[in-house]
Amino acid sequence: MKGIWKYKELLQSVSEDYQIALGEGNTPLVKSRQIGKILGLENLYFKLENLNPSGSYKDRFAAMAVAYAQEQGKNAILATSSGNTGAALAAYSAAANMKCIICLVDGAPFGKVQQMGVYGAELLMIKDFGINDHCTVEVMNTLNELADKHDCSLEISAYKFSPNGMEGVQTIAFEIADELEQVNQVFVPAGGGGLYLSIVRGFAKWKNKVNKAVSPTLFCVQPKGNDTIASVLLGDQLVPKAIANSTTKISGLQVSSLLDVDAILEESKSTACDAALVEDKDVFECQKMLAQLEGIYCEPAGAVALAGVKEALAVGKIKATDHIVCIVTGNGFKDQQALSRIYTEADCLYVDQTLNTKEEIIRKIEK
Ligand SMILES: *Cc1c(COP(=O)(O)O)cnc(C)c1O
Repeated sequence: MKGIWKYKELLQSVSEDYQIALGEGNTPLVKSRQIGKILGLENLYFKLENLNPSGSYKDRFAAMAVAYAQEQGKNAILATSSGNTGAALAAYSAAANMKCIICLVDGAPFGKVQQMGVYGAELLMIKDFGINDHCTVEVMNTLNELADKHDCSLEISAYKFSPNGMEGVQTIAFEIADELEQVNQVFVPAGGGGLYLSIVRGFAKWKNKVNKAVSPTLFCVQPKGNDTIASVLLGDQLVPKAIANSTTKISGLQVSSLLDVDAILEESKSTACDAALVEDKDVFECQKMLAQLEGIYCEPAGAVALAGVKEALAVGKIKATDHIVCIVTGNGFKDQQALSRIYTEADCLYVDQTLNTKEEIIRKIEK
């Protein structure tokens, strides 16, 4: 069985006619070769969700969401996205021959927008949408109204809006639980918290239905500039609050409104949940470390989990022998602008072949 459908017994049923598999899921779980040693962690793993077909774990969501929309005979997919949800939905909609209309978060990186356009989706970039809470609420109301009236499937990668699609994301937890005998902590980046909630629910479901149970502590990692969940989980703040303006520069995690936080707090009563807050600059440093010390090419959001591991280590929440998994959520190709923090055209050496190529190569060998 292909893709997320390998676990169809653990998911709500969808007719086989609508199950599209483009290579999503079954992503590698690789053991750290160098970063673990540097941090003094013996069993650090990376779950490579960047290797999904459209470049992020959102393909697991889209595979499920588009399958449902087809089965329900919906007219079109109507979605909101800062990039990766849109790219994933655009890809699976293309395969399903469904129309896909996407309202973009203001400032979504053009590479992500372009990917959606290339897959043939119809796009609207809306000023202040996703950045300003008031504007976001208004646009959401409009979308709800239109989806109802025109029988479209409204897809937003959060349980609050698209519980069916989010089921597909639980397969990340199934795959980890299936593969590792022991897992002590899983670190998960969070914007609106849908991914984190899926992983919490996925492990809970696995424990209920499958004998070989693992119940790791699940860390919700947020950038300080978008702390809508972490401080509440940490007990530093009593109730979740939407933030007026998200200040993190990490694409995909700028979710100022409250999406799945209430459901997360409910689950945290029965699951071991914890959190970490990280600085953007540490995340960018982790992105570079993943590329240069592990050969893992991810976008900044994909490096947030590792920054969370460093933070948890600093405050004594993990031990050297713990089995730790970081979810690397999205591909480096997604965000060209972010890559310029690591390498620009000016870093490349331009030489004249006849005069100094040989000399420069020797200099690099000896460096
Ligand atoms: C969507 C996304 C996230 C966060 O997901 P939420 O459900 O909003 O918390 C993290 N990383 C990447 C690459 C994403 O695309």
